[in-house]
Amino acid sequence: MRADEQTEIVVPEGGTVRELLRVPSGDGPVDLGAVDPRSTPGLPAAAGGGKDRKPWARRQVELIGAGLARQQEMLFATAKAAGEPDAPTSAPSGGGSKLRPGRPGRLLLVLQAMDCGGKDGTVKRVAGAMNPLGLHIRSFGPPTRQELRHDFLWRIRRALPPPGYVGVFNRSHYEDVLVARVDALVPEETWRARYDRINAFERELTDGGVTLVKVMLHISPQEQARRLADRLTDPTKFWKYQPSDLDSRARWGDYQAAYAEALGRCDTDAAPWFLVPADRKWYRDWAVAHLLRETFEGLDLGYPAAAFDVERERQRLASGGGGGRGEQQVNER
Ligand code: AMP
Ligand code: MG
Repeated sequence: MRADEQTEIVVPEGGTVRELLRVPSGDGPVDLGAVDPRSTPGLPAAAGGGKDRKPWARRQVELIGAGLARQQEMLFATAKAAGEPDAPTSAPSGGGSKLRPGRPGRLLLVLQAMDCGGKDGTVKRVAGAMNPLGLHIRSFGPPTRQELRHDFLWRIRRALPPPGYVGVFNRSHYEDVLVARVDALVPEETWRARYDRINAFERELTDGGVTLVKVMLHISPQEQARRLADRLTDPTKFWKYQPSDLDSRARWGDYQAAYAEALGRCDTDAAPWFLVPADRKWYRDWAVAHLLRETFEGLDLGYPAAAFDVERERQRLASGGGGGRGEQQVNER
């Protein structure tokens, strides 16, 4: 079958993507070396082989994206029916929703990666499939002077998605145990204390109805070199390059160690870490799309019931109701 003729989502093989890509449990650092950045866990046989897989996966992402857009709309509608996001009031009336009572839900995708790891591409391809109206996308660069006057979580709290929204963090509070550690921006005792702070913070979020999906896009140094070379060759990509990228690259091993510890220390059942092999962009997008699909399905969302008498409103409309400007009068003009 040609890629564009596919009409059905094919589920991953060997388990859900959430199961297949979840970092191994245990308190120690995660062994990043055990995951091949070119591997494609869960990719079904239906994808075909060799060059067929890319167009197949791209088409699947479109199909999954349509489902994500629908789930996102249900999340938004449920929050709106509950009086969110404008003014939080009563409990969500969404049928059978597992979201915490009284707290309309939100989903937050946290994306972390080395430079060229594909964070922007994932936002474009996967988040881009959803309705911009319900998306809350934030990127984190070096803290501003104002941000530096506050605790490291201050700017993160301010960037959280409102109830009903799907948030995407392009980099996050994890930079404060990654670049802050590797570049020694703060003393070791300061960044060491942050793992527990992060776990407490994320616990607070999940208790408050935020569903967290934390993703490390895992690329190889060889793939990073290719992408950096591309950014230094194609003038339309110069804007993506920063000379400091090469300084970070020179500390590859230190960064991997920092990631390994952050993922190991801050992977919890409430706020799990997923390690997505990302040398192949089409697999990366396919895997993240499925992660979101599976996460949404776990929320068991629905459309909220009408907060008005539907039959009565239909009759009012049919009888020219609504302030004397009914259908009949409009038609006669
Ligand atoms: P980019 O994602 O390419 O726009 O780059 C953003 C830069 O901001 C990266 O070099 C990050 O390491 C840096 N950055 C993000 N968060 C922090 C932080 N908390 N402290 C220091 N640097 C940061
Ligand atoms: Mg960059």
